[in-house]
Order: sequence, then structure tokens, then C-alpha cells
Amino acid sequence: MNAPLLPNRIEKHDALNFLIEWTDGKSFVLPFFEARFNCPCAACVDEKTGVRTLRREDVQTEVHPKNVALVGRYALQIQWSDLHGSGMFAFEQLRKICEQSGKENRPTL
Ligand SMILES: [Zn+2]
Repeated sequence: MNAPLLPNRIEKHDALNFLIEWTDGKSFVLPFFEARFNCPCAACVDEKTGVRTLRREDVQTEVHPKNVALVGRYALQIQWSDLHGSGMFAFEQLRKICEQSGKENRPTL
């Protein structure tokens, strides 16, 4: 079995994006907007159906993180500029968001 993927490094890449580097060596540029839109909390996703209730148009285009904290060894909690902060992004889920909504960042040699 493979070791679980963990983020090695999470930083602000620029005014609009995270740069998230993973233990498998891949790194992704992920827009703050996409991370905020994909918030997994009960206010953003219907817990029973798993359907996202948050709409893209409800997310501020300028949304950005105010604080990012580790939750144990499995998740990140992000406090956003729109005062939302209840979402716990499990690493596995965060990686999916990176792959679906981010852009792989390849170093130019
Ligand atoms: Zn949420």
C-alpha cells in the first residue's frame, strides 16, 4: 500500500493562488476561489445528499485565505476573507481539488 499523500508545503503563490507541494513531488497552483468554492463543510454541501449547495456565483471572486491551520495530521482548516472558516479540507480531498481545479506546476529547467 502506498503511503498517504501529504502536503509538504502550502504557501501563497501570488495574489490569487496557493502553491501546494505534495510528498509525491507534484505541486499544484490552486486558485483561492476554487478552494473556497470546494469547501466541504455542511454549510456548503448537503450532508445527506453530498450535493454542493454553494453556488459559484455566491463566492467572491477576490476571496483569499486569512489563515491556514493544520488539523491533526489529516486536514487543513482555512479561514477565508469572506469570514467563512468551518471547512476542514482533508488532505485526500485537497489533493482531488488540486487535480480537478488546479494546475500542475512543473519546474522549468
Ligand atoms: Zn463551507
